[in-house]
Amino acid sequence: MIRPIVRYGDRILTEPAREVDEVTPDVVALVNDMIETMYAAPGIGLAAPQVGMGLRIFVVDLSVGRDPNGLLAFINPVFVERDGVQLEEEGCLSLPGFNATVVRPARAVVKGLDRSGAERQVEGKGLLARAFQHEMDHLDGRLFVDRLRGIKRDLIVRKIKKLARAGQW
Ligand SMILES: [Zn+2]
Repeated sequence: MIRPIVRYGDRILTEPAREVDEVTPDVVALVNDMIETMYAAPGIGLAAPQVGMGLRIFVVDLSVGRDPNGLLAFINPVFVERDGVQLEEEGCLSLPGFNATVVRPARAVVKGLDRSGAERQVEGKGLLARAFQHEMDHLDGRLFVDRLRGIKRDLIVRKIKKLARAGQW
């Protein structure tokens, strides 16, 4: 089931998500919905708070469904290692139409549970490391605009407020 994606301005996006106690059928159903929602958007990553669920879950697929091995789903993910620095443009499904250059680690290793409840560890470099950090930020109630310097952030926030006033957000 495709779930509506909440946008910047919704409180859930600013709140830290809580750990999943157990990988129940409801949790698996949520993960499956998140995958469907990510592909439909389309996007390369989605975190549970973006579909209104304050749980520590994210899904990533750099191939957006084209590569059968491209899909990664993490429940209760944690960083094992992070190093290096990269600077690239990024966007977010909760901030449609906005992009900015964000500082991210060049490499990030994430460990968490998959949909079967098994522990999985994945090393991400480049875009995958960026996606890992972007989605982990969502689980901590942080959006990419929060990583921008004041002026850049204010510009985006002002444009969103204008759209909201016009009923277009
Ligand atoms: Zn995002």
